[in-house]
Amino acid sequence: MDTLFHGVIGAALCSRPGLAGGRRGPVDRIGRRQWVDWTLWAALFFGLVPDLASLGIHFAADLFTGNGIRWHGIPDFIFVLYNITHSLLGMAIGYGLLVGWKRALWLPALAWPLHVLTDVPTHGDGRFITPLFWPFSEAGFAGWSWWQHPAIFYGGWILAGGLWLLVLILRLTWRSQ
Ligand SMILES: [Zn+2]
Repeated sequence: MDTLFHGVIGAALCSRPGLAGGRRGPVDRIGRRQWVDWTLWAALFFGLVPDLASLGIHFAADLFTGNGIRWHGIPDFIFVLYNITHSLLGMAIGYGLLVGWKRALWLPALAWPLHVLTDVPTHGDGRFITPLFWPFSEAGFAGWSWWQHPAIFYGGWILAGGLWLLVLILRLTWRSQ
């Protein structure tokens, strides 16, 4: 799915202000209920990371050199980065390093594998098929490319809106005993 969608879904499922916070949501150090905490921004970021750390570099370079956003002429090293951030091996190493560095990242960093699992059915055959088994196998699941199927794109965003609506309902109906 599109990059922003991954960030929004990651935050909805892998942060305490999202559904992972349960009915109450995050609390601060002295136990007061919060609407937002750092895991929201971290999950949003990790949802974006697989694309930012690959295609994002290409697009940023294009912008800085005044070429505008181009989908053609993407250099090979960008695809290497794409394979790393969208493969089981790359994710396992990345996730392991992140959680080894800061244990509390275990929840928001799950937005990264969630991004890739969401890409599997929403990327069809071609250059952007999700390289789950890279570098061991080129095999991949040929899904339905979201950029060719508006129903997938809009359906995804309706789902994202529904998840956040659910969060709002949970929080507004929660009462402390
Ligand atoms: Zn992606």
